[in-house]
Amino acid sequence: MDKNKLISIACDVCVNKSHENIWIQPPNVVCKKCGFAFINPRPKKKFLNDYYTNNIMSSGSVYCKTEELSRQGKFDTMKINYIFAITKLTGGTVLEIGCRTGNLLRKFNKNKWERYGIEPSKKSFRNIKGNSLHLVNNTLEKARFDYNFFDLVIAASVLEHTFSPKEFVRKIHQYLKKTGFVYILVPNIYDPLFHRSDFDIDEHLSHFSKKSLKNLLEINGFRIINLHESRTDKFIELIAIKSMPIKVNFNKIEYLKSKKFAKKETERVKKEEDRIRLLINTTLEKWQKQNKRIGVYGAGLHSLYLEELTDLSKKGVYYFDSDPVKQKILFLNKKVFPPSKINTLGLSKFIISSESYQEEIYKTIKKYATNSEILKLY
Ligand SMILES: [Zn+2]
Repeated sequence: MDKNKLISIACDVCVNKSHENIWIQPPNVVCKKCGFAFINPRPKKKFLNDYYTNNIMSSGSVYCKTEELSRQGKFDTMKINYIFAITKLTGGTVLEIGCRTGNLLRKFNKNKWERYGIEPSKKSFRNIKGNSLHLVNNTLEKARFDYNFFDLVIAASVLEHTFSPKEFVRKIHQYLKKTGFVYILVPNIYDPLFHRSDFDIDEHLSHFSKKSLKNLLEINGFRIINLHESRTDKFIELIAIKSMPIKVNFNKIEYLKSKKFAKKETERVKKEEDRIRLLINTTLEKWQKQNKRIGVYGAGLHSLYLEELTDLSKKGVYYFDSDPVKQKILFLNKKVFPPSKINTLGLSKFIISSESYQEEIYKTIKKYATNSEILKLY
């Protein structure tokens, strides 16, 4: 990204300006006072708004299945079970920020809940189903709601993408009723979601631990009801209630811990990249000797990452994606095919680029090409 378009900020949790670099690209730092880790300098607000609104590669625009037994379907069920178990709410007004497919919102009984959703992505917004949902195609910053209106505000996998988590939670605070709850889900800095590090993902501007998330909420007027770490899904979930801001005492422990972790991550990620590069190169060589046509499933951020590691697109591969929108664009200067074209093209060898959706994609390929050989990277 153009360096002139980046902006430097102070720590959003404790306002301290002194921090230390812990990662090169993107440039992540850790706050020397409270230990919060974040990308600095970072893209400006205007750039981010435009990116999440218009770029079909942005995470809010990613196509995914939402049936009950799909990965996303199960994930949304997990969230709603947790929300109801902790808040004991049975009805009222709910807002989901970054509601993407609308799947989670639709799980709230429409006879008991007034359901509101904000989704900046134009592409996702067009595809939200459910005409009894109140939907806004914008960012939280530009959406307008009455103050003290919601019983529950949900922000799942959103806070880490925001320019200022502090401004974001303060906005939620204004929109919540006096006894309103907020549900937040973020990746856990100490338990990265991907084989690739969380520090490595440009979209994740903030990296939360249980401690820094708690600090952010308490400083900005929330009382924590439940803070939960999911080892299997590698996330931190939190439910807090609107309250008064409290003063938080910081110590050096979190700072030292983040710093040490980032050093370990550098080594781990390097090993992972070497492993993936070697695995792809040796497999490709073997398949090419057999004169086989090779497909790469996924025309998104994961395949761009593989491109950085292996120049895959220059090796005569065919790209596939389940997303109809991706099938209309060129990806790395190549046409993107739907899975239904697998047989017509005579492909029998595949590489799956995604990590989270690896198993789901595996089943899709097998459906169209029963005897295919498929390389899973993770
Ligand atoms: Zn700080």
